[in-house]
Amino acid sequence: MTNDQKLYYGKNITVTFQPEKCIHSGVCVKGFPAVFNLNKRPWVNPDAAAAEAIGRHIDQCPSGALQYELLEEEK
Ligand code: SF4
Repeated sequence: MTNDQKLYYGKNITVTFQPEKCIHSGVCVKGFPAVFNLNKRPWVNPDAAAAEAIGRHIDQCPSGALQYELLEEEK
């Protein structure tokens, strides 16, 4: 285990990324460039799309490097 985990805080979702797990399949950046863009810093923008849509896309990450937690919407 390493602690090399990055966190990206959005309004409705928190995205975590563990670089050492990433197998560079490109599923994230090719499939959802509005949110995952290596040319931007930070490369993950959790507010660029609906949280549920980001979560569904992260579910397709083959390595588990990307994870997320949906946050309760403020009432
Ligand atoms: S989808 Fe997952 S394994 Fe593929 S590049 Fe993105 S973070 Fe890495």
